[in-house]
Amino acid sequence: MELEQVQRRLAALQCPICHKSDFAVHPRAEQGFAEALHTVRCLGCNYTFKLSIPTRPVSQTDPDTANWLAGLPCPLCEEVGVRLEFRCTPYVRESVLFVTCTSCHHPFTEKAPMEAYE
Ligand SMILES: [Zn+2]
Ligand SMILES: [Zn+2]
Repeated sequence: MELEQVQRRLAALQCPICHKSDFAVHPRAEQGFAEALHTVRCLGCNYTFKLSIPTRPVSQTDPDTANWLAGLPCPLCEEVGVRLEFRCTPYVRESVLFVTCTSCHHPFTEKAPMEAYE
């Protein structure tokens, strides 16, 4: 996924500190084993958090999450099964997953407890 698209989809998120939805994604990423790690900065209060874009299929690197995504219903068409675009961790106890319905391509977000992130 292009950073520009990532940036656009981040508008669905609210900063946990100042509640604005204005974020800048740092273009340089740290390359992890199966993800590219970017830093996101809130333009309202300078709060930063991590954002990770998978660089390998989640089904190969994280079967638990892949199973969970496969069973996730779309709020629009109610079909199950979504594709993970990226996730970020603006909150202490949960991560936010940005997903796209594989049936109708509706983009939406899901929150997951931190355990599922690791
Ligand atoms: Zn903020
Ligand atoms: Zn759908």
